[in-house]
Amino acid sequence: MSQGVCILGSTGSIGCNTLDVISRNLDQYSVRVLTAHSNWQKLLEQCKNYQPEKVIIADQQSAELLTAELRKLNLSIQVESGRDAIINAARTPGVEIVVAAIVGAAGLLPTLTAVECGLKVLLANKEALVMSGELFMNAVKAHRAILLPVDSEHNAIFQSLPGADDNGLASLEGVHKILLTGSGGPFRQLPLNELSQVTPDQACAHPNWDMGRKISVDSATMMNKGLELIEACFLFGVPLEQIEIVVHPQSIVHSMVSYADGSVIAQMGNPDMRTPIAHTLAWPSRIEAGVEPLNFFEMSNLTFESPDFERFPGLKLAAQAMQVGGTAPCTLNAANEVAVEAFLAGKIRFTDIAPVIRKTMEHVEVREAQNLQTIIEVDQLSREFALSVVEQRGQ
Ligand code: NAD
Ligand code: MG
Repeated sequence: MSQGVCILGSTGSIGCNTLDVISRNLDQYSVRVLTAHSNWQKLLEQCKNYQPEKVIIADQQSAELLTAELRKLNLSIQVESGRDAIINAARTPGVEIVVAAIVGAAGLLPTLTAVECGLKVLLANKEALVMSGELFMNAVKAHRAILLPVDSEHNAIFQSLPGADDNGLASLEGVHKILLTGSGGPFRQLPLNELSQVTPDQACAHPNWDMGRKISVDSATMMNKGLELIEACFLFGVPLEQIEIVVHPQSIVHSMVSYADGSVIAQMGNPDMRTPIAHTLAWPSRIEAGVEPLNFFEMSNLTFESPDFERFPGLKLAAQAMQVGGTAPCTLNAANEVAVEAFLAGKIRFTDIAPVIRKTMEHVEVREAQNLQTIIEVDQLSREFALSVVEQRGQ
């Protein structure tokens, strides 16, 4: 019997990679639901290739265009539109696996629905977990969902930890430290005085990974590693002090776990997201991902260095947010999303991103992150304040 899959954000980089893995394993997985923001052309192509039962597109006009094209092709695929339809995507009968691959806070409610349905949730959308932390993890436990990390570092840590229960909750027995690796992005060695002049296209040209534009900018500021630090604390239930960031420019070691007895276990592979996607889809089994194994005889040197907190101030801001707790990570994430969007739109400079986040964190009151309503309110307030900072900077 094949398992029904719903991909939240199927037209993005993670979404397309997931479909590529599924196409190699069609005896085991069938595509039930695909969702996207507005790219109906790509969704149409995916409809032709995978014949899902339902597609959901946030933008109403795009939904109409897609419906007309599907009719011409005589494809009987249900089309829905709007934000609520995306939030409820995981409730579609027959869905057993949900791939959370929407970028940013927009993914929080659709991903939480999948958790509340007690499904197998493959988490790429780290922002959802950063925003809602404990609340999200409590929902996973309460609804007995199976939560598995797609983010390559967290997937590597998950594979290197001693084991996990049936719901994917990992054991920490004998673990000394988690070593979270990161490439350092495209500007690791750029002279510091040139950072303020870099363009969105330069920031998005990651040396090792081909990703969506938001996460690419996050990698260039290393805020991505900051968000991943918070993600790891919540996912694995470890304190900040037990995680160390290690810069590894080649992206071959995807993260490591060091143990009390001096052992260090690493997960390695070519930098290709199809590996962690395939790992989580099939867990605890293994399936074909279309990724070549490493060739150790052709590999260049593997190097490791400590992170540069002056060059990448976002790293400290993220650690601070986690230390403060409550809604501080939610504010950090919201301000970062606003600042990155403004940078991509040419409104602020690359070096303005961290100050926008810092100012927002200083201004927005930290509350206890008790319920979803509080989180949504703080997300909104933080966005509004960050936007006002952006507007001042842009003048
Ligand atoms: P992307 O920009 O390529 O794709 C984003 C997807 O989300 C698209 O399908 C888009 O239609 C959808 N979307 C965007 N805004 C939406 C909205 N408001 N409502 C509904 N749908 C919306 O992004 P990506 O690179 O695939 O990243 C997706 C998530 O996975 C991010 O959270 C990112 O941090 C995480 N992630 C990505 C990679 C990677 O290699 N790309 C690696 C690790 C983690
Ligand atoms: Mg990652």
